[in-house]
Amino acid sequence: MANLPTLRLGSQGPYVKRLEMNLNGLGKNYNSFVIDYLFDRKTEDVVKNYQDDIRLPRNGIVGPATWASLIDRVKMIQVKLNSLGYNSGTPDGWFGHKTTEAVLRFQRDHALVQEGVVNPRTRISLFAPHSADKFETRPSSTSLSSLDPYVASLASEFLNLTRAHNLDVRITTGFRSWDESDRLYAQGRTMPGPIVSNARAGDSYHNWGLAFDAAPFVNNQISNDQNLYILMGHLGGQGGLEWGGTFKAIVDYPHYQYTFGLTTEDLQNGRRPSR
Ligand SMILES: [Zn+2]
Repeated sequence: MANLPTLRLGSQGPYVKRLEMNLNGLGKNYNSFVIDYLFDRKTEDVVKNYQDDIRLPRNGIVGPATWASLIDRVKMIQVKLNSLGYNSGTPDGWFGHKTTEAVLRFQRDHALVQEGVVNPRTRISLFAPHSADKFETRPSSTSLSSLDPYVASLASEFLNLTRAHNLDVRITTGFRSWDESDRLYAQGRTMPGPIVSNARAGDSYHNWGLAFDAAPFVNNQISNDQNLYILMGHLGGQGGLEWGGTFKAIVDYPHYQYTFGLTTEDLQNGRRPSR
């Protein structure tokens, strides 16, 4: 652990491959980087988004904190697999062949797509198989009632605030079903069309009722006037919402969320907002 090299764009060697195996095994390889000995742009892009996800500075450089987080996450999976009788070898924090094989066996036994990587559905089956709230099977909805009650109250206050500014703002997406997210993620990857999303089902706050999309309407039609979205974003921020217009990875003007400080991985692990 102590002597791991700091890796960045252009780095080469066996530790780059180990880094890529861990990111891939943790289900982060949304841009299909090649697992090899080269830290290229695609690898850097995934590292940056991973750092965003786990609330580390988004610098694309794999130093001690990023390494530690990756190794801890892989260890946690190895320990869990071993405890469930899926031998992944000594929990060493490296997502190697033995871990991949154990994940594949676990996925086969739990009717999951056999990918060999810990995608969100696999993570839930591993760490929170008995959660009663069954977000995975809820339908998509534009209704505020599809959201977490506190997020719904923030959304409601936000809509009131926009009305006070003579805007006609409407919710265009509330809860998004996991199947719908899977379809969006498949587009441009395994299905035709352009890539529209880097979030698998379970990786979006929409899949947990903690996010909604809202658009300004003018003459009963969605407006593309950027100024209106920016005004809305300011109003949302005043109300305590996090606005997608401030995102660094993909700027997302219609998007609002309130996370309770939880990552989507926390949610997959079974953690829930405390009230
Ligand atoms: Zn959104």
